[in-house]
Amino acid sequence: MNDLLPSPTRRQLLAMIGKTAGAAAMYQAMTTLGFASESSFKQEMTLKGAPAGASIVILGAGLAGLTAAYELRKAGYKVTVLEYQNRGGGRSWTLNSGDKYTELGGEQVTCNFQKGNYFNGGPWRLPIHHYAVFHYCKKFNVALQPFIQTNDRAYLHRTNHFNGAPQRLGDVQNDIRGYVSELLSKAMNKGSLDDAVTTEDKEKLLVGLKGWGVLDNNYRYVKSHETSKHRGYSVYPGGGLMPDAQPSTPIPRDKLLNSEMWADIYNNYTVHVHQPAMFQPVGGMGK
Ligand SMILES: Cc1cc2nc3c(=O)[nH]c(=O)nc-3n(C[C@H](O)[C@H](O)[C@H](O)COP(=O)(O)OP(=O)(O)OC[C@H]3O[C@@H](n4cnc5c(N)ncnc54)[C@H](O)[C@@H]3O)c2cc1C
Repeated sequence: MNDLLPSPTRRQLLAMIGKTAGAAAMYQAMTTLGFASESSFKQEMTLKGAPAGASIVILGAGLAGLTAAYELRKAGYKVTVLEYQNRGGGRSWTLNSGDKYTELGGEQVTCNFQKGNYFNGGPWRLPIHHYAVFHYCKKFNVALQPFIQTNDRAYLHRTNHFNGAPQRLGDVQNDIRGYVSELLSKAMNKGSLDDAVTTEDKEKLLVGLKGWGVLDNNYRYVKSHETSKHRGYSVYPGGGLMPDAQPSTPIPRDKLLNSEMWADIYNNYTVHVHQPAMFQPVGGMGK
């Protein structure tokens, strides 16, 4: 690095990583630097001993400012919170139907959601190790509900693929794993990877890929009852007079590859910080 150029600040460095490699990489970097590790919160602090008549001004009515205000007021300080925006909450912010918002580019947005729907403009997930947040939610009776990070039955959509028909996330996920396993097995069985893996590892990989990709005895990913146990049936198994179960048909490999739908879906799986269970306030983060 050029000695004449100033080193980037921590914030600039993390922002650069976020912009170039995405949020998951930035979070990873923050964890490595020790800024996104598990909360050390054990119990509410017991501040006391405010000098008589002492007052404190807090800039910003976000989660941090409001928590500080609450605790300092309890400790006996006269607290004033100054907030630049016309609402509290900072980045914890929920838009409800009828709310109006002016975007940075100047565009006016009026939220026209169905009754009960809302949009979290900032944070939306409470990972299990955010102990302090859970503590204050409980204290202030903010009802929580599970946050569903991934829904296999949700749809992925690309206008120019599958005639615009949306595809289930679970189907895309299972099928791409099956096809990749099939191709890798094929390459190994042809000896194409002999330089890279030992004979013993090759055997282990083949066994693993057969199970992981749900391949048949010829290492193919095909329409079958086995693959349907994972991607869903076209007619589900029933009992009594119900019709026989019918396996579902995997998305054709060329169409799936061309759609590129499969390439982005692993963004959902962002290390331990987003593992289940996660929570969200009922009615949105603004609560
Ligand atoms: C898009 C997005 C998604 C996120 N997702 C998650 C998530 O899912 N889970 C999670 O845990 N975290 C998430 N975060 C991070 C989380 O939002 C923040 O960690 C948290 O809101 C920070 O709270 P804070 O009080 O420190 O700051 P803020 O919420 O930013 O509050 C700062 C407040 O100070 C005000 N202010 C600033 N300067 C001044 C000034 N000079 N005078 C007066 N007021 C001032 C601002 O207007 C603001 O209201 C997300 C953040 C974003 C942007």
